[in-house]
Amino acid sequence: MHSDTEIVVIGGGVSGLCAAGLLAKALGQDAVLTLEKSDCPGGTTGSDTQDGYICDWGSNGFLDKEPLTLEWADALGLTPRLARANQRAAKRFIYRNGILHRVKAPPGFFFSPLLSLRGRLRLCCEPLIAQKTDMAPESIYDFAARRIGPEAAEILVSAMVLGIYGGEARQLSMEHCFPRMVNMEREYGGLFKALRAIRKENPGASPMGPPGVLTTFQGGIGELPRTAATALGNRIRYNAAVAGVEQQEDGYVVRLTSGDSYAARAVVMATPANAAASCLHGLSASLADALADIPYAGLAVVCAGYDRDQIRHDLDGFGFLAPRGQGLRLLGCIWTSSLFPFEAPPDKVLLRVMYGGAPDPEAVRMDDDTLLRAMQSELHPLLGIQGAPAFVRIFRHTGGIPQYTLGHEARLAHIEAGEQAFPGLVFAGNAYRGIGLNDCVVSAHRAADKVLAHL
Ligand SMILES: Cc1cc2nc3c(=O)[nH]c(=O)nc-3n(C[C@H](O)[C@H](O)[C@H](O)COP(=O)(O)OP(=O)(O)OC[C@H]3O[C@@H](n4cnc5c(N)ncnc54)[C@H](O)[C@@H]3O)c2cc1C
Repeated sequence: MHSDTEIVVIGGGVSGLCAAGLLAKALGQDAVLTLEKSDCPGGTTGSDTQDGYICDWGSNGFLDKEPLTLEWADALGLTPRLARANQRAAKRFIYRNGILHRVKAPPGFFFSPLLSLRGRLRLCCEPLIAQKTDMAPESIYDFAARRIGPEAAEILVSAMVLGIYGGEARQLSMEHCFPRMVNMEREYGGLFKALRAIRKENPGASPMGPPGVLTTFQGGIGELPRTAATALGNRIRYNAAVAGVEQQEDGYVVRLTSGDSYAARAVVMATPANAAASCLHGLSASLADALADIPYAGLAVVCAGYDRDQIRHDLDGFGFLAPRGQGLRLLGCIWTSSLFPFEAPPDKVLLRVMYGGAPDPEAVRMDDDTLLRAMQSELHPLLGIQGAPAFVRIFRHTGGIPQYTLGHEARLAHIEAGEQAFPGLVFAGNAYRGIGLNDCVVSAHRAADKVLAHL
């Protein structure tokens, strides 16, 4: 089958769905066709409801600070379904020396044994550290060690980087993973100085957590891609894996592995970068190489449900992160039903435990029994859990999360040059300028704007 359409969006994750929705709104539903390799929408973002538990496959929410995400939810009629995490989300813990320590804002931080006295004193010297004047790229670890000291970099920052990116702080680029902090140093001369200034401007801002409130939907985060896909009607095709994209006089031909093909004036590539690389190899080997150069870290998510009285810990908080070198293989645990009580039945508890990431690529390949045994042996003593979980769901993301390693800027420059060289071909998704759902929405807007400008 060969058919013509104005625009083909390749990939039906949140980035592709958002871009397709924006383009359909601008040009009409029939002008846009979305092709998704799997049999359902969402990519790494989705939720399954089973036995009264709502289990998110990957992301468990977005921060409500990005107006474009809230606008998208609103356009889909989902505003009444929004559900914000409760106050407990502000309390975060880090595992060190066999126990969980609450991460406190100054001045309480100074009296917490999470870091050694020397580590705390070094952290307090941050305002005295000279500002970096050159623009040379720096790893997250190097930035943190320079500003707040090696111990805080190892314990606080590396754990956070594993929790967000599943990545290694020594390999990831500060500028691409935490551009806000780089700007804080550039604008205010240091992090404490920046926090003081930000607090002055906005007295409610919390320095211990990211700005915004973690937000989901009453049926889990999967409501967003499900509703977005439904809104596209029959203009989204599942089990439609794209094998290649070729240039032709008036645009592109998109070829599926099934043999079907579609001619389009513009193409939005919203797949993971490595999938985009294989689709575009025939078009430009150097563009494909830059895409293939973006590494990914796999993650396994264990959702475990318990009776409340099986657990001694009060679970009053967001959950905890486990820095490497502290004897735990798990990366962290989110106390999901503390944040979103409706995601577990009454008197039950839902926990989400993460394994894998860049330092532990084998974990995502562990079978269910091994993962579960590992989870029980590490988590149960820590939280005082008696007996096995009554409910378990395991999700594996072998592709996982893109890693913005040092050198990401050069890859991005190459990919953007590819967009220039092939008018009407644009990239969206978490591989480029941010992995959060909000970043994906922003990337979809960028892609839609570029396509509309091209047409
Ligand atoms: C465990 C985990 C936890 C996370 N937690 C959070 C969180 O709490 N908050 C947050 O904001 N973000 C979180 N994230 C990140 C966020 O979920 C992702 O960045 C986001 O979902 C990526 O969306 P995407 O559309 O860019 O890519 P994807 O979700 O990867 O979608 C790409 C789509 O392309 C399709 N595809 C691939 N190849 C082809 C092909 N050849 N032809 C057609 N289709 C193809 C895939 O099947 C997929 O559906 C988390 C991610 C993971 C893995």
